[in-house]
Amino acid sequence: MRFEQVDVAVVGCGVGGSSVALAARRKDVSVGIFEEHSRVGEPSHCSGHVGILAFTRFGPKLPRGIIENEIKGAVLYAPNGKSITLYRPKPVTWVLNRAEFDRHLATLARKSGAQLHLNSRVDGLKRTDNGFQIKISGPRAREVECKILVDAGGCGGSVSKYAGLLQPNPRMLVNSAQFNVENLTDVNDDLVEVYFGQGYAPGFFGWLIPRRDGSAKVGIAAAPRDNVRKCFEHFIRKHPIVSLKLKRAKILTAPMYHPIPVGGAALRTYTAGVLTVGDAASQVKPTTGGGIVFGLACGRMAGETAADSIRKGDTSAATLSSYEEKWRQVIGFDLAAMALLRRMLYRLPDPYLNRIFMVSRELKTDEILSRTGDIDFQGRTILSLSRDPRLFLTLLSASLLSAPSLLSLGRKTHTRT
Ligand SMILES: Cc1cc2nc3c(=O)[nH]c(=O)nc-3n(C[C@H](O)[C@H](O)[C@H](O)COP(=O)(O)OP(=O)(O)OC[C@H]3O[C@@H](n4cnc5c(N)ncnc54)[C@H](O)[C@@H]3O)c2cc1C
Repeated sequence: MRFEQVDVAVVGCGVGGSSVALAARRKDVSVGIFEEHSRVGEPSHCSGHVGILAFTRFGPKLPRGIIENEIKGAVLYAPNGKSITLYRPKPVTWVLNRAEFDRHLATLARKSGAQLHLNSRVDGLKRTDNGFQIKISGPRAREVECKILVDAGGCGGSVSKYAGLLQPNPRMLVNSAQFNVENLTDVNDDLVEVYFGQGYAPGFFGWLIPRRDGSAKVGIAAAPRDNVRKCFEHFIRKHPIVSLKLKRAKILTAPMYHPIPVGGAALRTYTAGVLTVGDAASQVKPTTGGGIVFGLACGRMAGETAADSIRKGDTSAATLSSYEEKWRQVIGFDLAAMALLRRMLYRLPDPYLNRIFMVSRELKTDEILSRTGDIDFQGRTILSLSRDPRLFLTLLSASLLSAPSLLSLGRKTHTRT
């Protein structure tokens, strides 16, 4: 029996997968991307909100139409309804049409020579002398041989477990719900809105992200033990501010539900012949759940490492470990700082959240953040804020209050499934 063969097999055609493929093709190794769905970018569950600075550093040039809005700041609502506004005179973030963006990246990957296989789910793998034999299910079930497998299958779609890599601990995920609406009341389309409160989005937050055309993406994420469907219903119908904004709104799409890994990066993202990227490696900002920019950045590093090791004829774990060194150098510090902050704030009772907002307002943290805050590389911002004794003490007492969850969460970020 003759098998299809590629140097690098990529699981999943999201931002991570296409980015891997593009980088590997630049170094002239053969690449096959295997995507389980029939259309790239669908179903779309993401808000597509990215920092312009970091996106332009790691992402491709975007054609017109993919950017749905340019955002100048954010209104953060405390559980008691008091708010802090962060504002810059020029746009700091973009809202992307995430499905179109994924298709754009996939087109670039295909044009660079990568083969894209739709309706092709990677369902298992077997080690061989030269790499792996991967099992593809779907209308054209088959087996494909590859030298390196890159798992970019997102959160929960991960196949690297077959290769023995740890999976994100389900307790370190949040579950999200989001829909598209139009005809909202009292929304400034320069600003995203973020809503905190254990009564509405336990363990995380809710959001409203406006598009230029008057529509918006509205969603929440909540800790795994809470029922996200119920929380979302409660948020859109009962939240004293959100429910008013949505009173006359027309719902454009049914809610989409999806997990987000927010426990900080995976402990290990390589083994012999295998790399993991993006949500599959938990390369996601633990504070906001944003993973597009980091997926692009790490995808590029994974693609380059995979191609280099194939050209060297050495796909051992020792050689592939350079991928992990590289990405940790670029985002490791920021991910660790964000993970720490998230654990401090996890399940914090509302009175403490209200107090943190109050102290932040008194300290004019909003002005500092408006001037200097980086929405992607938050490590330095977190460090400089924590140098202020009052804010530091408030955060510390808050973290002590959430110590039981802090301890239980701190130990095991990953698990064997
Ligand atoms: C509600 C919500 C809102 C978000 N908002 C933002 C935001 O505003 N900004 C931001 O930066 N991030 C956001 N994120 C996070 C962001 O969507 C992810 O971090 C990002 O999509 C990760 O990209 P990825 O390529 O790793 O995975 P994905 O985009 O999930 O792509 C994985 C692909 O792999 C495919 N796949 C999975 N398993 C297999 C298999 N076995 N075989 C073949 N194919 C497979 C899937 O079908 C999918 O197409 C949000 C996430 C959610 C859930």
